[in-house]
Amino acid sequence: MSNKPIYVTQPALPPLEEFIPYLEQIWDSKVLTNGGPFHQQLEQALCEHLGVKHISLFTNATIALITALQALRITGEVITTPYSFVATAHSLLWTGVKPVFIDVDPRNFNLDPDCIEAAITPHTTAIMPVHCYGHPCDVERIERIADTYGLKVIYDAAHAFGVRNARGSILNYGDLSVLSFHATKVFNTFEGGAIICPDAKTKQRIDHLKNFGFVDEVTVIAPGINGKMSEFNAALGLLQLKDIDNAIARRQAIDARYRAALGGITGIGLLSGSDDAVANYAYFPILVQPGFALNRDGLFARLREHGIMARRYFYPLISDFPMYRGLPSAAPALLPTARQAAQQVICLPIYPDLPVEQQERIIELIVSAA
Ligand SMILES: *Cc1c(COP(=O)(O)O)cnc(C)c1O
Repeated sequence: MSNKPIYVTQPALPPLEEFIPYLEQIWDSKVLTNGGPFHQQLEQALCEHLGVKHISLFTNATIALITALQALRITGEVITTPYSFVATAHSLLWTGVKPVFIDVDPRNFNLDPDCIEAAITPHTTAIMPVHCYGHPCDVERIERIADTYGLKVIYDAAHAFGVRNARGSILNYGDLSVLSFHATKVFNTFEGGAIICPDAKTKQRIDHLKNFGFVDEVTVIAPGINGKMSEFNAALGLLQLKDIDNAIARRQAIDARYRAALGGITGIGLLSGSDDAVANYAYFPILVQPGFALNRDGLFARLREHGIMARRYFYPLISDFPMYRGLPSAAPALLPTARQAAQQVICLPIYPDLPVEQQERIIELIVSAA
């Protein structure tokens, strides 16, 4: 058995020879970017695959989040979660908006809808929830609260590629949803991202904003950014899309093996997937709780010693980073569930090509520590 480290994820890639014909087309056409043919094809293919109306492709999800906020002219305060990747809150600072952190729901570590209303002030303009680990937020309740108070909702759906509830794609909720196609995500284009939007007019504004604000050769409508996905990334995405269902099925098998092996261990907590959702098995978080022989960092170190590069997603909390911790809403006492999650969580390796023997080795390292 190889002694190469096992990382929390490993990007799925198509056979290289299948990518060559796409590259030949690019070399022939000399169209490298600015909404070329592959860009257009991938937008259409993703709309069909995901079951959404309009999509605008981006260089990455961080620029897409910033553009989403700009597109909806969000100002003032935005209610969001401290339990996420730091780019969620960074997008708010980049647009001059004040993040207001609230605690998370202990069942899924998504923003707790019970905490939203108390955090609303006259300055609140929007909510930015995260479908953490690809588990859907309580989208219906968030919608009701947003409607009652006249707030926009922008989902950071970086983890939620392909996730559905009984009514279809989870990406159709809220005013906008943002996907990430980073190398570590379920669907990757090396780097990439997208905004899902419900209407053609909003998509058009977003398309202008991701191209410096240009509407035509001589008209600039806003201080837009350069967020366009290149033809290289878009072509790769078209190829990746062919294998995505298979890749997610393989993740599902790994998820099932972890659940069967770790579900009964005292002191190891698992998050349950939601009942009605088509899941994407993006992450496999475990919670190392009192009752287990090691604490979280003890088990984390044990895995590392054996070359298992699990990750503590999400530790530290965003609200603990220096640019956030002075905010009133970052006070530790206000975020007890998020804080406990950040102290207990380890995300175990999960990716389509994870060999069964390696997974069994990971399970054995945990079981034998118990
Ligand atoms: C990965 C990630 C991002 C950032 O995505 P990029 O495409 O790398 O910019 C934002 N939010 C969350 C929750 C993420 O996991």
